[in-house]
Amino acid sequence: MNRPIKAAFLDRDGTINVKRDDYVKSPGELVIIEDAVAGMRKLQDKGYALVVVTNQSAVGRGIITEAELDGIHARMERKLAESDVRLAGVYFCPHLPGDGCRCRKPRTGMIDDAAYDLNIDTSSSYMIGDSASDAEAGLSAGLGVIKINTDGGFSGAVDRV
Ligand SMILES: [Mg+2]
Ligand SMILES: [Zn+2]
Repeated sequence: MNRPIKAAFLDRDGTINVKRDDYVKSPGELVIIEDAVAGMRKLQDKGYALVVVTNQSAVGRGIITEAELDGIHARMERKLAESDVRLAGVYFCPHLPGDGCRCRKPRTGMIDDAAYDLNIDTSSSYMIGDSASDAEAGLSAGLGVIKINTDGGFSGAVDRV
């Protein structure tokens, strides 16, 4: 068994890319926040694996399919790779708020799954996001929590990790 790694769990909408009230529905609607890329590079340079954990009820609402979401995430990974930022994993919850699933933040299912899959030491890891549900999920999972402003502040906020 390899030694557990430390990770930064990252929210997506409003954290990595510009939030849209009508959901990101296609790769072209995914606008990466440059300041977030700078923050992700800082985390990567400090040895954190980067893991995206994102609520995507647009799937459960029938607005996009899982295949379309995969296409959006493929573009995200490609754009980040252009800046030498590599994601260790992308986990999403496709369910609706009322579904009672284990994965939708503020519940911890996505973090739990990633921690198991990637052998992450949660006690030395962080959750970074723009919503109260991100902070709540992070606290419940035993992570350090960094709350940022929607669509901004990522890079400066991670200087203290
Ligand atoms: Mg968000
Ligand atoms: Zn779910």
